[in-house]
Amino acid sequence: MKIAVIGLGNMGQPIARNVLQAGYNLTVYNRTKQKTEELVSEGAQAADTPRQAAKTADIVITMLSDDDSVSAVTFGENGLIEGLAEKGIHISMSTISVEFSEKLAAAHAEKGQFFLAAPVLGRPDAAEKAALRIITAGPAEAKQTAKPLLASLSQQVFDVGEESKTANAAKISINFLLVSMLEALSESFLMMEKYGLEQKQFLEIASALFGSPVYQNYGTIMAEQTFEPAGFKMSLGLKDTNLALAAAKQVSANLPLAELAKSHFESGIEQGFGDLDWAALIKCIK
Ligand code: NAP
Repeated sequence: MKIAVIGLGNMGQPIARNVLQAGYNLTVYNRTKQKTEELVSEGAQAADTPRQAAKTADIVITMLSDDDSVSAVTFGENGLIEGLAEKGIHISMSTISVEFSEKLAAAHAEKGQFFLAAPVLGRPDAAEKAALRIITAGPAEAKQTAKPLLASLSQQVFDVGEESKTANAAKISINFLLVSMLEALSESFLMMEKYGLEQKQFLEIASALFGSPVYQNYGTIMAEQTFEPAGFKMSLGLKDTNLALAAAKQVSANLPLAELAKSHFESGIEQGFGDLDWAALIKCIK
């Protein structure tokens, strides 16, 4: 089976490498072509356009920043939708909006192609270890075909049905939980700092109760201030917070905590923290 991966950023690069290591024939495309070089030296082919990448593939994975970039690569000049064959599958792993997911599903269906939403949980280190968690939704036939590929990239796949938007909404909600944790942990760290307790010691106490890698990993990044290089950029954190607010609005739900985090991310980005890890939320609050 032939696979194309479009988007070789922090997440796309290790995902593409795992596709190759699982024994698939791989074609890669990235807007900045230089980022294809390492994978080509490992056995992948590089395409000049998304359309060309899709033409060579049974399944195209996109791992791009946001709605706009997925739109450019799918519907723009030489977009992948023009290259993908009938019954070809577009798997979108990016964190995108519910609304845009519906648009993609409809556009591919109109062409006799399949669209699977497959947003991921886990940072670049999890992608490297093929230990992502994937939430997927879309047509059953496409999910069946893509099953071994998704298994080669992840430790767990959650199937949430046939409507792609359900997977995207679930991913957005999980990120909202992460944002809420970053807010609460930052506020606790800063208060405890004023009582003279080191962040690492407070984290040890908190971790004894909230025994989760999420607290441990992000708490350590905050305590050690290792915000660079970013595993997940603050600018993407703001994007996901806005996605959560938009998803909530569509179903008349309220997310006041997301409003608070949004204002903190915006002030951080104004101060030039956009490319730092989103755990630098603590700097914005401080
Ligand atoms: P990233 O490192 O910033 O990479 C972004 C990718 O998108 C790059 O390949 C970039 O190409 C491409 N791109 C951006 N705008 C484009 C455009 N207009 N046209 C074509 N290509 C464009 O981001 P990432 O961390 O890999 O994240 C990718 C997606 O995964 C995002 O939706 C993110 O929310 C989600 N995600 C990330 C993490 C994480 O921890 N990093 C975890 C789970 C989910 P260039 O190289 O040319 O800039």
